[in-house]
Amino acid sequence: FPILTSTSFDADGQLIKDGGTGRRLVYLDSAATSQKPTAVTDALAAYYLKYNSNVHRGAHALSREATSLYEQARDKVASFVNAYSRNEVVFTRGATEAINLVAASLSCPSSFGKEQEWMRLEEGDEIIITEAEHHSNIVPWQLAARKTGAILKYVPIRPDGQFDLTAFRDLLSPKTKFVSIQHVSNVMGTINPISSIVELVRTHASPDAKIMLDACQSVPHSIVDVQSLNVDFLAASGHKMCGPTGIGFLWGRESLLNSMAPYMGGGEMIDEVYMTHSTYATSPARFEAGTPPIAQAVGLGSAIDYLNAIGMERIHEYEMELGQYLYRRLRQVPGVAVLGPPVGVERAALCAFVCDGVHPSDLSTFLDGEGVAIRAGHHCCQPLHRALGYSHSARASLYFYNTQEDVDEFIGALENTLKFFRSLEGGADSKDGEE
Ligand code: PMP
Repeated sequence: FPILTSTSFDADGQLIKDGGTGRRLVYLDSAATSQKPTAVTDALAAYYLKYNSNVHRGAHALSREATSLYEQARDKVASFVNAYSRNEVVFTRGATEAINLVAASLSCPSSFGKEQEWMRLEEGDEIIITEAEHHSNIVPWQLAARKTGAILKYVPIRPDGQFDLTAFRDLLSPKTKFVSIQHVSNVMGTINPISSIVELVRTHASPDAKIMLDACQSVPHSIVDVQSLNVDFLAASGHKMCGPTGIGFLWGRESLLNSMAPYMGGGEMIDEVYMTHSTYATSPARFEAGTPPIAQAVGLGSAIDYLNAIGMERIHEYEMELGQYLYRRLRQVPGVAVLGPPVGVERAALCAFVCDGVHPSDLSTFLDGEGVAIRAGHHCCQPLHRALGYSHSARASLYFYNTQEDVDEFIGALENTLKFFRSLEGGADSKDGEE
């Protein structure tokens, strides 16, 4: 475990190298995707070499073994988020698919499947999200609103990047049927006050209102317990938590999942198929049509074992400290404005920032040349960037395998890059740009 060693390691403590040059790389882009431990790549290889078979359908030993590994992965996810039951965990391609699954299912037309009263959105129902959401927690709700006639409302973000509970309270009414909110912002690192949000929804929204958490940026970094959060659905991506790409999960209360219309049709999700109609399996099979991402689920299970072996509490504590260090150092660089909560407010271990006179893309290109990998763009949060008055930002994001030396290298490279750009302009602007 590389926490106390020097810069810059992947999840196994191996030096991360730039694929092109073979040079050491300071990897500060884990909010986009994490590095993978060999425990995970070994589990993927072992699955394909020893157990490869289709799940659930086969009446032979290999298929039973593959099924057992796949279902064990479900158990691991269920206990990782403290689900009430393993049936509440639906494997998806990622958080995006998990959110789309819920939004699409709730948009099924009222004429669909008249034999059952599906949970669905109706014309005039209100859906509340925030201005700070990732596009994958905005667009599915826009589509749902267009299909059903429901109304999509946005909680405006406070100028200091914090969740506005008063504005949220003002939007809530008995018409509010669904609230979908990120746990942690992938741009500002804001940690949303979920217990207050849940309490307001349970008191002021429709008694049927459901709450979904986009937990993409929290599940990999801290203990996330769906029972104590008291939400109804939660979405996360495996590739941000040391798992493979192509796997994520939806957690949902079992009774809700079983009252929802299917998302995709195909093999495995049915009970009986007739030429005129079909009946559907219960969760999780109900939402896992077709051959699932078996190897990826097994890899995610192995990533969970790996994270548990380190300890999520330990990961969280370490990252909070390193994240504060990153924030402190970045704020001290003249002409840099860090987006999100002010000093003294807890934030996740990532910083999006803008620099006077230097476009974020130019910055990331130059830092790349210095062996530092950061991300530049709108980070799939265009409405948030507009609200903050920027079109793009640069972002450095940490995981447990990053070190203080990584942050120092990044800050050094950033200072050199800014000096270079300012020398072209013929003078530096030395404003302390804290936001
Ligand atoms: N929500 C948030 C907050 C995210 O950070 C991301 C990934 N950047 C997503 C949703 C979407 O995740 P994925 O692309 O893995 O489906």
